[in-house]
Amino acid sequence: MTDSNKPRYAFFDGDFVPFENAKVSVMTHAFNYGTGVFEGIRGYWNDDHQRLYLVALREHYSRLRKNSAMMCIALPYTVDELIDMTVRLVTMNEFSSDVYIRPIAYKSSEQIGVSMEGVADAFTLIAAPFGNYVDIDRGLSVTVSSWQRTADNAIPGRAKVTGNYANTALVKNEAVMNGYDEGLVLNHLGHVIEGSAENLFLVRDNVLLTPGREEGILEGITRDIIIRLAAAELDCATIERPIARSELYYADEIFLTGTGAQVAPVTQVDRRKVGNGQVGPISRALQKMYFDVVRGRNNKYASLLTPAETSAAGQRAPVSVTAH
Ligand code: PMP
Repeated sequence: MTDSNKPRYAFFDGDFVPFENAKVSVMTHAFNYGTGVFEGIRGYWNDDHQRLYLVALREHYSRLRKNSAMMCIALPYTVDELIDMTVRLVTMNEFSSDVYIRPIAYKSSEQIGVSMEGVADAFTLIAAPFGNYVDIDRGLSVTVSSWQRTADNAIPGRAKVTGNYANTALVKNEAVMNGYDEGLVLNHLGHVIEGSAENLFLVRDNVLLTPGREEGILEGITRDIIIRLAAAELDCATIERPIARSELYYADEIFLTGTGAQVAPVTQVDRRKVGNGQVGPISRALQKMYFDVVRGRNNKYASLLTPAETSAAGQRAPVSVTAH
């Protein structure tokens, strides 16, 4: 992280602290064993409104609470408290650009041994300026990974567990090393289910196809928004069902969705053109609608957004900061 986009404050160990004080020990359980659950959340700066719009906070924090319970991590904050904390953090940092927000609930004791019983829990929240994660304009070139997604009864992908992202890293890294933008993963049944860190949509005969929740996907929040927008604004139905690998090569359009990836059209799979090799009309239309929604330009979906007055003009009373 460069000095210019380094955040000033983080939430760590129960307090807002200077960012450089938010540090864990090398013996921390989660650092050693991957026993954390996390979220990726975005905030979009709207220059006309001079405010930051935080996207789907309630949905993200509800998911985090479920995932914490799954991993036996006690999270001592309600969804409303987590939302307030996030607004406060971005406000303290006075961001006036798009941001990425990362809450992590994790096993924090400094001890050797993987059992989670009796191991203390902690929560931290950081936010930093952030742009695009993948190219969203030219159309991505993707490949089916030789790595498989961890099965639900190995490490559930649904749970967004930090340790599971070693699998994600192998998929993404293999794709990049082989000259692709992204990798797609198969589950243990050989069905194609996701991008390395994105949900997958195919368009065939004006219908959206996406793997169902039982396929081992992360239950993506962007995925839900896209299904809703497609139905309401394009009159385009989504069928949730297993997707065979070869269906990738027969699709009219393919796109990936995620908080990081946003809505990212795919124009090549395994060096084969998707459709005519150009970004398709449904992918483009959904991408435009998505950005209108998240940047606060479409009032119909305003309930998905939490506004934060982070600019000097909208500043609130100063908050106290504890140095650790
Ligand atoms: N699948 C995986 C494996 C992911 O890491 C992500 C990113 N969180 C997604 C899908 C997309 O989920 P969301 O839209 O909630 O960000």
